[in-house]
Amino acid sequence: MKVKFWGVRGSIPTPLNSDVIRDKIKQTLQLASPKDISNEESIDTFIDTLPMSIVGTYGGNTTSLEVRTSTDDLIIVDCGTGIKQLGHELLKTEFGNGTGFATILLTHTHWDHIQGFPFFAPFYIKGNRFNIYSPYNDIKERIEYQQVYTHFPINLEYMLAQKEFFIIDKESEIYINDVKIKNKSMRHPGGSFGFRFEENGKSFVFTSDCEFNIDEIDKIDTYKNFFENADVCVFDTQYTFEESINKIDWGHSSASIAIDIASMFNIKRLILFHHEPDYNDQKLDTVLSNAKLYMGINPDRRGNLTINIAREGMEIEI
Ligand SMILES: [Zn+2]
Ligand SMILES: [Zn+2]
Repeated sequence: MKVKFWGVRGSIPTPLNSDVIRDKIKQTLQLASPKDISNEESIDTFIDTLPMSIVGTYGGNTTSLEVRTSTDDLIIVDCGTGIKQLGHELLKTEFGNGTGFATILLTHTHWDHIQGFPFFAPFYIKGNRFNIYSPYNDIKERIEYQQVYTHFPINLEYMLAQKEFFIIDKESEIYINDVKIKNKSMRHPGGSFGFRFEENGKSFVFTSDCEFNIDEIDKIDTYKNFFENADVCVFDTQYTFEESINKIDWGHSSASIAIDIASMFNIKRLILFHHEPDYNDQKLDTVLSNAKLYMGINPDRRGNLTINIAREGMEIEI
């Protein structure tokens, strides 16, 4: 399996503003020496030495992931604003001439997970086909409602691609060719579902929008089959530990609880996800470094866990 992140931000799209860009330019210039900027090649070499949070950004688009199976089947997880750019890329493929097919899985229908739906260009090309899966039995109505005329000028039925909705049983397994996909109900206002993908002995767990408060930790054994031995787990870490204490029942988790759960269930690689919209790139650097610090407090218990933080455009192979 391959996974590409097209949207990693939680709650609301978060574009960079001029002040932030100016600050990045200023930091870059402060770090440069005359020989770093003497020609184009040295400039490129210098830029490559800088931290991503200075020369780039974690990204402001909301949740959307591209999962490619070993047979190159396309599975899209969530339709946050990140799906718009994925759509533009897909237009260069069979989706551009109306012969594309993809599976879409929806975790839940909060805006940050469906708002890109009306802006996904392959939906407008006749002949493309999409199978859309969710455990919510009114999933089609929820998506249609986002595009009633008072909210968006084009109804779902005028998007010419074929869009078929499938309601899957809660906590059941489905197969997309050889990929087994298990869903798990998560604690979140209005509900949310995580997905565990398994193919060729490898497993990938995606769980955004989930809160693990004391009640949930008390019954953590019920999550065993979902998390255990995952090769990669993408986890909702919107809050810092302190915020998670102050925002009980807001529906999100922190990096420290993600690390505890990863350790508990022998997860090999953890990817911090669903970034708080009020956090800039430097703050997200700190979220990652604090997570590594927390892991270091008890390295024996946490084994060989690798921790990364999601950014737009990041690709991983599982
Ligand atoms: Zn969300
Ligand atoms: Zn949500």
